[in-house]
Amino acid sequence: MLKVNEIYFSIQGESGYAGLPCVFIRLTYCNLRCTYCDTEYAFYDGKEMSLDEITARVKEYNCNLVQVTGGEPLFQEECPGLLTRLCDAGFKVLLETGGSLPVKDLDNRVIVIMDLKTPSSGMVRKNMYENIDYLKDEDEVKFVIGSREDYDWSRDIISRYNLTGKCKILFSVVFGKMDPRTLVEWILEDKLDVRFQLQMHKFIWSPETKGV
Ligand code: SF4
Repeated sequence: MLKVNEIYFSIQGESGYAGLPCVFIRLTYCNLRCTYCDTEYAFYDGKEMSLDEITARVKEYNCNLVQVTGGEPLFQEECPGLLTRLCDAGFKVLLETGGSLPVKDLDNRVIVIMDLKTPSSGMVRKNMYENIDYLKDEDEVKFVIGSREDYDWSRDIISRYNLTGKCKILFSVVFGKMDPRTLVEWILEDKLDVRFQLQMHKFIWSPETKGV
């Protein structure tokens, strides 16, 4: 059984899959407490569901793209089993993880979208850098940037771990805290080979809206 905060159908707001219709499975619990967290409602609330129940519910939406997110989805031991079950059922499966728990034993059909927590998150010490060794070229590493310090740190990490060419690299701003234009200007100045993104759903709906 897994504790599920919500299952809903929307468009992908971020990542290389932004703009595509997608079913989201938000699992309860998170082992981190980022300063800018926008899903605190997923820390405790939820309903126990079996893998069969979750899979049946996802199938109702008739959509091939599924994202397992949180909270921190990998916090629940049965999450890897859910990912494999969804792959076996024929879905294209994305996993959004905070990067503090191991990804090495996950089903290699899963596309991993992994945060590396920047200094302003307050959680930088939790990054599990050995995860980088297990990323595939279609996986994505995400940096959420709220300050110049975060930007410089992210640029150094990309260089130190040779991320360019290893996987996709996403840069976005802490919503409401940093001007997107400033970040874009820094990226262009340094000619960084990264993909800038905005959390599209926060522009379509109001930033506090749940289930989108
Ligand atoms: S990892 Fe995600 S869900 Fe957990 S505290 Fe950080 S932003 Fe919130």
